[in-house]
Amino acid sequence: MSNLDDLLQRNKDYAAKQSAAGTLMPSLPRATPNLKATIIGCADMRVDPAHLLGLKPGEALVIRNIGGRITPPVLEELGLLGRIGEVARVVPAGGGEFHLIVLQHTDCGITRLAGDPDKLAHYFQIPEGEVKSKSVTDPRAAVAGDVAFLKTIPALPAQWFISGLVYDVATGLVEVVVPPAPIRSA
Ligand SMILES: [Zn+2]
Repeated sequence: MSNLDDLLQRNKDYAAKQSAAGTLMPSLPRATPNLKATIIGCADMRVDPAHLLGLKPGEALVIRNIGGRITPPVLEELGLLGRIGEVARVVPAGGGEFHLIVLQHTDCGITRLAGDPDKLAHYFQIPEGEVKSKSVTDPRAAVAGDVAFLKTIPALPAQWFISGLVYDVATGLVEVVVPPAPIRSA
């Protein structure tokens, strides 16, 4: 149990710090002025967006899956986040910037599935013949494709900025592959 004990001790430190700083959010706020983004990223333990983008509590919603890819479950989750208000009500009525960020990375484990098109077809819920179009071995092409796909989803607010980033696990740096632009022009 020592690993868990260590984590629980870190939690105590976290709770003490957040409580002292007054940054705990005991109920879901009506408006969250600090919320800057929804980030879709990979589940890989090396690429937690909270770490590599320096996120503080309350600054971003994060959805993680294998590859940080746009799959039907991710779209469903984005839709439900809107329903429960975690995303929709944070968009400032008078304008203001909110970012939808697709964050993928080099040396991603999803590349090891390249030889299993049946598994990838199931993951993306597409025919096996279309798996190549998902560019699982090329994070830059993959993130560009996923951003382009998200831009076709009419339910996403037009004024959100959408961008595609690739994190380099060798340098620790994020590269902007698709610069931020509104999802749809007004
Ligand atoms: Zn990955």
